[in-house]
Amino acid sequence: MNKDRKLIIAGNWKMNKTVAEALDLVNGLKRELGTVKEVDIVVCPPYTALESVSKAIIDSNLRLGAQNMSAHNVGAFTGEVASVMLKEFSVRYVILGHSERRQHQKESNALIAQKALAVHAAALKPIVCVGETLAEREGGQTEQVLETQIRGSLAGLSHDQMEESVVAYEPIWAIGTGKTASTQQAQDAHAFIRQVLASMFNEGVAKQVRIQYGGSVKPNNARELMSQPDVDGALVGGAALTVRDFADIIKNSI
Ligand code: PEP
Repeated sequence: MNKDRKLIIAGNWKMNKTVAEALDLVNGLKRELGTVKEVDIVVCPPYTALESVSKAIIDSNLRLGAQNMSAHNVGAFTGEVASVMLKEFSVRYVILGHSERRQHQKESNALIAQKALAVHAAALKPIVCVGETLAEREGGQTEQVLETQIRGSLAGLSHDQMEESVVAYEPIWAIGTGKTASTQQAQDAHAFIRQVLASMFNEGVAKQVRIQYGGSVKPNNARELMSQPDVDGALVGGAALTVRDFADIIKNSI
């Protein structure tokens, strides 16, 4: 695929996989995808499997991501995990502001921006999620919602930090529902996000940023989605839980 930006496809395992199951999955992915160089491949297991998966993927082309991180570095924050702890396991990417955390943990754009700064301060890369609900789309508010989320969740990043960040466009109505945004809906939202980034930063920065699509990505829709000019990868939930589906999404995207 002829795009200046390298594709990045990440699997968000959410609250799935014991250590043994996680190892089965990554060992299978290593076998299937060991020679892929065209795509940055990222797996994001739960915290409890980070150490084992980290050891299993040393010297492979798979990279490790976490599903969340504290905005704080150390201290009295029960249940939270700091950047220095993720770095012990060679984590490279951190998903921030997933819609499930925005909904269940009430994460705000301001908090996500603080976390994004903390992620960069630790020389990690954030994958910052944005996306509208079905009611917002049907109410014609998609662009307004995306602009507010992008401006709020990426506030305060330097140009260099923004270029190293990944944005994931995940329409909430498409997550885990089997409904995928049409390629045109995805492309339009991605182009809009890039336009907002250009106005917040500049055109050069906006051109560098990789924007993933997320929401019921499967082996049979990956190719068409990835062929859109502003779609630079995928954030995959359900289909990232089996070797066959995740490997086929990646192979079909190349
Ligand atoms: C997600 O939760 O990030 C996601 C995209 O899930 P799914 O692929 O299952 O829709």
